[in-house]
Amino acid sequence: MKIAENTFGSKYHVDEKGFYGRFGGAYIPEMLFPNVDELQRNYLQILRDPGFQEEFDQLLRDYVGRPSPLYLAKRLSEKYKAQIYLKREDLNHTGAHKVNNTIGQILLAKRLGKTRIIAETGAGQHGVATATVCALMGLECVVYMGSIDIQRQAPNVARMKMLGATVVPATSGSQTLKDACNEAIRDWINNPVDTHYILGTAAGPHPYPDMVTRFQSVISEEIKKQLLEKTGKANPDYVMACIGGGSNAAGAYYHFLDEPDVKLIAVEAGGKGVHSGHSAATTQLGKLGIIHASKTLLMQTEDGQITEPYSISAGLDYPGIGPLHAHLYETGRATFLNATDEEALQAAYELTRLEGIIPALESSHALAKLGQVAFKPDDVVVVCLSGRGDKDMETYIRNLPGNTGGNV
Ligand SMILES: *Cc1c(COP(=O)(O)O)cnc(C)c1O
Repeated sequence: MKIAENTFGSKYHVDEKGFYGRFGGAYIPEMLFPNVDELQRNYLQILRDPGFQEEFDQLLRDYVGRPSPLYLAKRLSEKYKAQIYLKREDLNHTGAHKVNNTIGQILLAKRLGKTRIIAETGAGQHGVATATVCALMGLECVVYMGSIDIQRQAPNVARMKMLGATVVPATSGSQTLKDACNEAIRDWINNPVDTHYILGTAAGPHPYPDMVTRFQSVISEEIKKQLLEKTGKANPDYVMACIGGGSNAAGAYYHFLDEPDVKLIAVEAGGKGVHSGHSAATTQLGKLGIIHASKTLLMQTEDGQITEPYSISAGLDYPGIGPLHAHLYETGRATFLNATDEEALQAAYELTRLEGIIPALESSHALAKLGQVAFKPDDVVVVCLSGRGDKDMETYIRNLPGNTGGNV
Protein backbone atom coordinates (compact mmCIF):
# COMPACT_ATOMS: atom_id res chain seq x y z
CA MET A 1 0.00 0.00 0.00
CA LYS A 2 1.31 3.38 -0.99
CA ILE A 3 0.14 5.78 1.72
CA ALA A 4 0.14 9.27 0.28
CA GLU A 5 2.29 11.16 2.75
CA ASN A 6 0.95 14.66 2.79
CA THR A 7 -2.32 15.09 1.01
CA PHE A 8 -3.61 17.93 3.15
CA GLY A 9 -2.85 20.45 0.41
CA SER A 10 -5.13 18.68 -2.04
CA LYS A 11 -8.61 19.90 -2.77
CA TYR A 12 -9.95 16.37 -2.94
CA HIS A 13 -8.40 14.77 0.11
CA VAL A 14 -9.63 14.98 3.67
CA ASP A 15 -8.44 17.98 5.71
CA GLU A 16 -7.11 17.88 9.29
CA LYS A 17 -10.62 18.21 10.68
CA GLY A 18 -12.03 15.36 8.63
CA PHE A 19 -13.78 17.41 5.94
CA TYR A 20 -13.94 17.26 2.16
CA GLY A 21 -15.04 20.79 1.34
CA ARG A 22 -18.18 21.27 3.43
CA PHE A 23 -18.83 17.53 3.80
CA GLY A 24 -17.65 15.03 6.39
CA GLY A 25 -16.68 15.59 10.01
CA ALA A 26 -17.71 13.52 13.02
CA TYR A 27 -21.14 14.49 14.37
CA ILE A 28 -21.12 11.89 17.10
CA PRO A 29 -23.02 11.58 20.36
CA GLU A 30 -20.77 12.45 23.29
CA MET A 31 -20.74 8.84 24.46
CA LEU A 32 -19.02 7.80 21.26
CA PHE A 33 -16.26 10.36 21.62
CA PRO A 34 -13.62 8.11 23.26
CA ASN A 35 -13.91 5.46 20.51
CA VAL A 36 -13.80 7.86 17.58
CA ASP A 37 -11.12 10.01 19.19
CA GLU A 38 -8.88 6.97 19.67
CA LEU A 39 -9.21 6.17 15.97
CA GLN A 40 -8.66 9.75 14.82
CA ARG A 41 -5.49 10.04 16.88
CA ASN A 42 -4.00 6.73 15.79
CA TYR A 43 -5.09 5.67 12.33
CA LEU A 44 -2.58 7.53 10.16
CA GLN A 45 0.35 6.61 12.35
CA ILE A 46 -0.64 2.93 12.25
CA LEU A 47 -1.27 2.93 8.49
CA ARG A 48 2.13 4.50 7.87
CA ASP A 49 4.01 2.00 9.99
CA PRO A 50 6.19 -0.15 7.69
CA GLY A 51 5.34 -3.29 9.69
CA PHE A 52 1.64 -2.64 9.18
CA GLN A 53 2.07 -2.04 5.48
CA GLU A 54 4.10 -5.20 5.09
CA GLU A 55 1.45 -7.33 6.80
CA PHE A 56 -1.37 -5.64 4.83
CA ASP A 57 0.43 -6.14 1.51
CA GLN A 58 1.26 -9.75 2.31
CA LEU A 59 -2.35 -10.64 3.18
CA LEU A 60 -3.69 -8.84 0.11
CA ARG A 61 -1.28 -10.85 -2.00
CA ASP A 62 -1.42 -14.33 -0.45
CA TYR A 63 -4.91 -14.37 1.06
CA VAL A 64 -7.03 -12.05 -1.10
CA GLY A 65 -5.19 -12.87 -4.33
CA ARG A 66 -4.00 -9.40 -5.34
CA PRO A 67 -3.10 -7.75 -7.58
CA SER A 68 -6.48 -8.31 -9.19
CA PRO A 69 -6.13 -8.50 -12.99
CA LEU A 70 -6.75 -5.50 -15.25
CA TYR A 71 -8.47 -7.15 -18.18
CA LEU A 72 -8.87 -5.65 -21.66
CA ALA A 73 -12.43 -6.66 -22.56
CA LYS A 74 -12.09 -6.97 -26.34
CA ARG A 75 -15.66 -7.70 -27.35
CA LEU A 76 -17.05 -5.11 -24.96
CA SER A 77 -14.52 -2.61 -26.38
CA GLU A 78 -15.65 -3.37 -29.89
CA LYS A 79 -19.25 -2.75 -28.98
CA TYR A 80 -18.65 0.60 -27.24
CA LYS A 81 -15.80 1.77 -29.50
CA ALA A 82 -13.20 2.45 -26.84
CA GLN A 83 -10.42 0.54 -25.04
CA ILE A 84 -12.34 -0.86 -22.09
CA TYR A 85 -10.46 -2.45 -19.21
CA LEU A 86 -12.16 -4.20 -16.29
CA LYS A 87 -10.52 -4.01 -12.87
CA ARG A 88 -11.34 -7.47 -11.61
CA GLU A 89 -12.26 -7.00 -7.94
CA ASP A 90 -14.74 -9.83 -8.54
CA LEU A 91 -11.80 -12.25 -8.39
CA ASN A 92 -10.87 -11.34 -4.81
CA HIS A 93 -11.41 -13.85 -2.00
CA THR A 94 -15.05 -13.47 -0.86
CA GLY A 95 -15.98 -12.08 -4.28
CA ALA A 96 -15.77 -8.30 -4.04
CA HIS A 97 -13.64 -5.29 -3.10
CA LYS A 98 -14.97 -5.20 0.47
CA VAL A 99 -12.28 -7.54 1.79
CA ASN A 100 -9.53 -4.94 1.06
CA ASN A 101 -11.07 -2.80 3.78
CA THR A 102 -11.82 -5.54 6.31
CA ILE A 103 -8.22 -6.81 6.11
CA GLY A 104 -6.95 -3.28 6.76
CA GLN A 105 -9.31 -2.67 9.65
CA ILE A 106 -8.71 -6.02 11.38
CA LEU A 107 -4.96 -5.34 11.36
CA LEU A 108 -5.64 -1.87 12.78
CA ALA A 109 -7.92 -3.34 15.46
CA LYS A 110 -5.20 -5.75 16.54
CA ARG A 111 -2.70 -2.93 16.83
CA LEU A 112 -5.17 -1.01 18.99
CA GLY A 113 -5.43 -4.06 21.26
CA LYS A 114 -9.07 -4.81 20.43
CA THR A 115 -10.39 -8.34 20.93
CA ARG A 116 -13.98 -8.01 19.71
CA ILE A 117 -15.26 -6.85 16.32
CA ILE A 118 -18.68 -5.52 15.39
CA ALA A 119 -20.03 -4.63 11.95
CA GLU A 120 -23.24 -3.66 10.18
CA THR A 121 -24.39 -5.28 6.98
CA GLY A 122 -27.20 -4.89 4.47
CA ALA A 123 -27.01 -7.62 1.85
CA GLY A 124 -24.48 -9.45 3.97
CA GLN A 125 -21.44 -8.87 1.75
CA HIS A 126 -19.64 -6.70 4.29
CA GLY A 127 -20.77 -9.05 7.06
CA VAL A 128 -19.18 -11.98 5.25
CA ALA A 129 -15.96 -10.03 4.58
CA THR A 130 -15.80 -9.08 8.27
CA ALA A 131 -16.61 -12.58 9.56
CA THR A 132 -13.89 -13.89 7.23
CA VAL A 133 -11.10 -11.72 8.63
CA CYS A 134 -12.29 -12.38 12.20
CA ALA A 135 -11.97 -16.12 11.58
CA LEU A 136 -8.55 -15.47 10.07
CA MET A 137 -7.40 -13.59 13.18
CA GLY A 138 -9.36 -15.57 15.78
CA LEU A 139 -11.35 -12.56 17.02
CA GLU A 140 -14.94 -12.53 18.25
CA CYS A 141 -17.34 -11.16 15.62
CA VAL A 142 -20.86 -9.73 16.02
CA VAL A 143 -22.71 -8.59 12.87
CA TYR A 144 -25.84 -6.44 13.06
CA MET A 145 -28.31 -6.98 10.25
CA GLY A 146 -31.89 -5.79 9.70
CA SER A 147 -34.34 -8.62 10.38
CA ILE A 148 -35.90 -8.17 6.94
CA ASP A 149 -32.45 -8.44 5.36
CA ILE A 150 -31.77 -11.60 7.38
CA GLN A 151 -34.79 -13.19 5.70
CA ARG A 152 -33.84 -11.88 2.24
CA GLN A 153 -30.17 -12.85 2.37
CA ALA A 154 -30.18 -16.36 3.82
CA PRO A 155 -27.03 -17.65 2.03
CA ASN A 156 -24.88 -14.82 3.40
CA VAL A 157 -26.32 -15.30 6.89
CA ALA A 158 -25.34 -18.97 6.66
CA ARG A 159 -21.81 -18.01 5.56
CA MET A 160 -21.37 -15.62 8.47
CA LYS A 161 -22.54 -18.27 10.94
CA MET A 162 -20.26 -20.92 9.46
CA LEU A 163 -17.39 -18.45 9.80
CA GLY A 164 -18.19 -18.19 13.52
CA ALA A 165 -19.93 -14.81 13.64
CA THR A 166 -23.00 -14.02 15.73
CA VAL A 167 -25.66 -12.39 13.55
CA VAL A 168 -27.90 -10.07 15.59
CA PRO A 169 -31.20 -8.94 14.03
CA ALA A 170 -31.99 -5.21 14.07
CA THR A 171 -35.72 -5.08 14.70
CA SER A 172 -36.28 -1.31 14.84
CA GLY A 173 -37.44 1.06 12.07
CA SER A 174 -37.49 -0.41 8.58
CA GLN A 175 -35.39 -3.37 9.82
CA THR A 176 -32.76 -2.83 7.11
CA LEU A 177 -29.24 -1.41 6.75
CA LYS A 178 -29.63 1.95 8.46
CA ASP A 179 -31.20 0.26 11.50
CA ALA A 180 -28.33 -2.22 11.58
CA CYS A 181 -25.90 0.76 11.60
CA ASN A 182 -27.76 2.27 14.55
CA GLU A 183 -27.56 -1.01 16.49
CA ALA A 184 -23.83 -1.34 15.77
CA ILE A 185 -23.23 2.20 17.02
CA ARG A 186 -25.23 1.45 20.19
CA ASP A 187 -23.10 -1.65 20.81
CA TRP A 188 -19.92 0.37 20.31
CA ILE A 189 -21.01 2.98 22.86
CA ASN A 190 -21.57 0.18 25.39
CA ASN A 191 -18.22 -1.49 24.65
CA PRO A 192 -15.70 1.34 24.16
CA VAL A 193 -12.59 -0.47 25.41
CA ASP A 194 -12.31 -3.91 23.81
CA THR A 195 -14.38 -3.44 20.62
CA HIS A 196 -13.56 -2.11 17.14
CA TYR A 197 -16.35 -1.25 14.72
CA ILE A 198 -15.44 -2.30 11.15
CA LEU A 199 -17.52 0.05 9.02
CA GLY A 200 -18.04 -1.23 5.49
CA THR A 201 -17.95 1.79 3.22
CA ALA A 202 -16.40 5.25 2.79
CA ALA A 203 -19.01 6.87 5.05
CA GLY A 204 -19.60 7.47 8.76
CA PRO A 205 -17.66 9.76 11.12
CA HIS A 206 -14.08 10.87 10.40
CA PRO A 207 -11.70 9.00 10.13
CA TYR A 208 -13.74 6.20 8.53
CA PRO A 209 -14.23 7.75 5.07
CA ASP A 210 -10.52 8.51 4.75
CA MET A 211 -9.39 5.25 6.37
CA VAL A 212 -11.63 3.05 4.19
CA THR A 213 -10.61 5.03 1.08
CA ARG A 214 -6.92 4.48 1.84
CA PHE A 215 -7.41 0.73 2.27
CA GLN A 216 -9.34 0.61 -1.01
CA SER A 217 -6.80 2.86 -2.77
CA VAL A 218 -4.83 -0.28 -3.62
CA ILE A 219 -7.29 -0.53 -6.54
CA SER A 220 -6.06 2.65 -8.28
CA GLU A 221 -2.47 2.00 -7.25
CA GLU A 222 -2.64 -1.26 -9.19
CA ILE A 223 -4.54 0.28 -12.12
CA LYS A 224 -1.71 2.80 -12.62
CA LYS A 225 0.97 0.15 -12.57
CA GLN A 226 -0.95 -2.26 -14.80
CA LEU A 227 -1.93 0.38 -17.36
CA LEU A 228 1.64 1.60 -17.61
CA GLU A 229 2.77 -1.95 -18.35
CA LYS A 230 0.01 -2.60 -20.87
CA THR A 231 -0.25 0.74 -22.68
CA GLY A 232 2.85 2.76 -21.76
CA LYS A 233 0.65 5.33 -20.04
CA ALA A 234 -0.35 5.15 -16.36
CA ASN A 235 -3.43 7.33 -16.62
CA PRO A 236 -6.65 6.22 -18.30
CA ASP A 237 -9.02 8.72 -19.90
CA TYR A 238 -11.93 7.54 -17.77
CA VAL A 239 -12.48 5.64 -14.52
CA MET A 240 -16.04 4.43 -13.96
CA ALA A 241 -17.49 2.89 -10.79
CA CYS A 242 -20.82 2.29 -9.08
CA ILE A 243 -21.61 4.11 -5.84
CA GLY A 244 -23.41 2.83 -2.78
CA GLY A 245 -21.60 4.45 0.14
CA GLY A 246 -18.69 4.93 -2.22
CA SER A 247 -15.79 2.69 -1.20
CA ASN A 248 -15.02 0.89 -4.47
CA ALA A 249 -15.31 4.17 -6.37
CA ALA A 250 -13.12 6.00 -3.84
CA GLY A 251 -10.46 3.31 -4.15
CA ALA A 252 -10.60 3.32 -7.95
CA TYR A 253 -10.33 7.14 -8.06
CA TYR A 254 -7.84 7.75 -5.25
CA HIS A 255 -4.54 8.02 -7.13
CA PHE A 256 -6.23 9.97 -9.94
CA LEU A 257 -8.01 12.60 -7.84
CA ASP A 258 -5.39 15.27 -8.49
CA GLU A 259 -4.87 14.35 -12.14
CA PRO A 260 -7.43 16.32 -14.13
CA ASP A 261 -6.71 14.46 -17.38
CA VAL A 262 -8.49 11.45 -15.83
CA LYS A 263 -12.26 11.84 -15.99
CA LEU A 264 -14.13 10.23 -13.11
CA ILE A 265 -17.61 8.83 -13.61
CA ALA A 266 -19.82 7.67 -10.74
CA VAL A 267 -22.98 5.67 -11.29
CA GLU A 268 -25.75 5.66 -8.70
CA ALA A 269 -28.74 3.35 -8.47
CA GLY A 270 -31.70 4.89 -10.29
CA GLY A 271 -34.00 2.08 -9.13
CA LYS A 272 -37.30 2.27 -10.97
CA GLY A 273 -36.41 5.78 -12.19
CA VAL A 274 -34.93 8.74 -10.30
CA HIS A 275 -38.30 10.41 -9.78
CA SER A 276 -40.35 7.26 -9.30
CA GLY A 277 -40.11 7.37 -5.52
CA HIS A 278 -38.13 4.10 -5.71
CA SER A 279 -34.50 5.02 -6.17
CA ALA A 280 -31.18 5.50 -4.40
CA ALA A 281 -29.76 8.28 -6.62
CA THR A 282 -28.53 10.37 -3.70
CA THR A 283 -26.85 13.23 -5.55
CA GLN A 284 -29.98 13.77 -7.67
CA LEU A 285 -32.46 13.62 -4.80
CA GLY A 286 -30.43 14.40 -1.68
CA LYS A 287 -29.87 17.52 0.35
CA LEU A 288 -27.30 18.43 2.98
CA GLY A 289 -27.92 16.47 6.15
CA ILE A 290 -26.27 14.26 8.73
CA ILE A 291 -26.33 10.49 8.45
CA HIS A 292 -24.23 8.10 10.49
CA ALA A 293 -22.37 11.00 12.04
CA SER A 294 -21.26 12.52 8.73
CA LYS A 295 -22.43 15.74 7.07
CA THR A 296 -23.18 14.79 3.50
CA LEU A 297 -25.84 14.55 0.80
CA LEU A 298 -28.75 12.52 1.98
CA MET A 299 -32.22 11.56 0.76
CA GLN A 300 -34.72 13.09 3.15
CA THR A 301 -38.23 14.47 3.44
CA GLU A 302 -39.02 18.22 3.74
CA ASP A 303 -38.70 17.99 7.52
CA GLY A 304 -35.43 16.06 7.44
CA GLN A 305 -36.61 12.46 7.95
CA ILE A 306 -34.37 10.01 6.08
CA THR A 307 -36.20 8.58 3.07
CA GLU A 308 -36.24 4.84 2.47
CA PRO A 309 -33.95 4.17 -0.52
CA TYR A 310 -34.64 1.52 -3.13
CA SER A 311 -32.48 -0.42 -5.59
CA ILE A 312 -32.64 -3.91 -7.07
CA SER A 313 -29.08 -4.20 -5.83
CA ALA A 314 -28.78 -4.45 -2.06
CA GLY A 315 -25.25 -3.02 -2.03
CA LEU A 316 -26.40 0.30 -3.52
CA ASP A 317 -29.51 0.58 -1.36
CA TYR A 318 -28.25 3.37 0.95
CA PRO A 319 -29.90 6.79 1.43
CA GLY A 320 -26.62 8.71 1.72
CA ILE A 321 -23.27 8.94 -0.02
CA GLY A 322 -19.79 9.21 1.47
CA PRO A 323 -18.55 12.79 2.03
CA LEU A 324 -15.73 12.50 -0.52
CA HIS A 325 -18.29 11.79 -3.23
CA ALA A 326 -20.60 14.60 -2.14
CA HIS A 327 -17.57 16.86 -2.57
CA LEU A 328 -16.61 15.38 -5.96
CA TYR A 329 -20.21 15.97 -7.06
CA GLU A 330 -20.37 19.53 -5.80
CA THR A 331 -17.01 20.54 -7.28
CA GLY A 332 -17.75 18.81 -10.59
CA ARG A 333 -14.57 16.71 -10.30
CA ALA A 334 -16.65 13.58 -10.94
CA THR A 335 -19.65 13.21 -13.24
CA PHE A 336 -22.62 11.49 -11.63
CA LEU A 337 -24.92 9.32 -13.72
CA ASN A 338 -27.53 6.81 -12.66
CA ALA A 339 -28.70 3.47 -13.99
CA THR A 340 -32.12 1.93 -13.47
CA ASP A 341 -32.70 -1.65 -12.27
CA GLU A 342 -33.59 -2.64 -15.82
CA GLU A 343 -30.48 -1.04 -17.34
CA ALA A 344 -28.27 -2.77 -14.77
CA LEU A 345 -29.86 -6.16 -15.51
CA GLN A 346 -29.35 -5.71 -19.25
CA ALA A 347 -25.72 -4.71 -18.71
CA ALA A 348 -25.16 -7.85 -16.62
CA TYR A 349 -26.62 -10.09 -19.35
CA GLU A 350 -24.51 -8.27 -21.94
CA LEU A 351 -21.19 -8.65 -20.07
CA THR A 352 -21.96 -12.29 -19.42
CA ARG A 353 -22.57 -13.02 -23.10
CA LEU A 354 -19.74 -10.87 -24.48
CA GLU A 355 -17.00 -11.72 -22.02
CA GLY A 356 -18.05 -14.77 -20.00
CA ILE A 357 -18.05 -12.79 -16.77
CA ILE A 358 -21.13 -12.66 -14.52
CA PRO A 359 -20.85 -9.34 -12.64
CA ALA A 360 -22.44 -8.31 -9.34
CA LEU A 361 -25.63 -6.30 -9.81
CA GLU A 362 -23.89 -3.32 -8.18
CA SER A 363 -21.03 -3.34 -10.70
CA SER A 364 -23.56 -3.75 -13.52
CA HIS A 365 -24.78 -0.22 -12.81
CA ALA A 366 -21.37 1.13 -13.87
CA LEU A 367 -21.33 -1.09 -16.98
CA ALA A 368 -24.83 0.10 -17.88
CA LYS A 369 -23.58 3.62 -18.62
CA LEU A 370 -20.87 2.65 -21.14
CA GLY A 371 -23.26 3.56 -23.94
CA GLN A 372 -23.95 6.96 -22.47
CA VAL A 373 -20.44 8.44 -22.57
CA ALA A 374 -19.09 9.88 -25.83
CA PHE A 375 -15.82 7.92 -26.02
CA LYS A 376 -13.25 8.37 -28.76
CA PRO A 377 -11.92 5.08 -30.20
CA ASP A 378 -8.50 5.52 -28.54
CA ASP A 379 -9.89 6.38 -25.13
CA VAL A 380 -8.74 4.10 -22.33
CA VAL A 381 -11.65 3.39 -20.00
CA VAL A 382 -11.31 1.50 -16.73
CA VAL A 383 -14.49 0.11 -15.17
CA CYS A 384 -14.23 -1.10 -11.60
CA LEU A 385 -15.88 -4.51 -11.59
CA SER A 386 -16.50 -4.37 -7.85
CA GLY A 387 -17.84 -7.90 -7.38
CA ARG A 388 -19.02 -11.17 -8.87
CA GLY A 389 -22.61 -12.12 -9.56
CA ASP A 390 -22.96 -15.44 -7.69
CA LYS A 391 -25.01 -13.76 -4.97
CA ASP A 392 -27.37 -12.28 -7.59
CA MET A 393 -28.13 -15.44 -9.56
CA GLU A 394 -31.69 -15.70 -8.30
CA THR A 395 -32.47 -12.16 -9.48
CA TYR A 396 -30.71 -12.72 -12.81
CA ILE A 397 -32.59 -15.94 -13.54
CA ARG A 398 -35.93 -14.52 -12.48
CA ASN A 399 -35.52 -11.56 -14.83
CA LEU A 400 -33.87 -13.38 -17.72
CA PRO A 401 -35.47 -12.27 -21.01
CA GLY A 402 -37.88 -14.99 -22.10
CA ASN A 403 -38.17 -16.48 -18.61
CA THR A 404 -41.89 -16.77 -17.95
CA GLY A 405 -41.49 -17.97 -14.41
CA GLY A 406 -41.22 -21.73 -14.90
CA ASN A 407 -38.43 -23.87 -13.51
CA VAL A 408 -34.97 -23.17 -14.85
C1 LIG B 1 -21.18 -3.32 -1.21
C2 LIG B 1 -20.91 -3.36 -2.64
C3 LIG B 1 -20.92 -2.17 -3.43
C4 LIG B 1 -21.28 -0.82 -2.89
O1 LIG B 1 -20.47 -0.33 -1.89
P1 LIG B 1 -19.41 0.85 -2.14
O2 LIG B 1 -18.95 1.17 -0.77
O3 LIG B 1 -20.15 1.98 -2.79
O4 LIG B 1 -18.35 0.32 -3.01
C5 LIG B 1 -20.59 -2.26 -4.77
N1 LIG B 1 -20.30 -3.45 -5.34
C6 LIG B 1 -20.30 -4.61 -4.63
C7 LIG B 1 -19.97 -5.88 -5.34
C8 LIG B 1 -20.60 -4.60 -3.27
O5 LIG B 1 -20.61 -5.75 -2.58
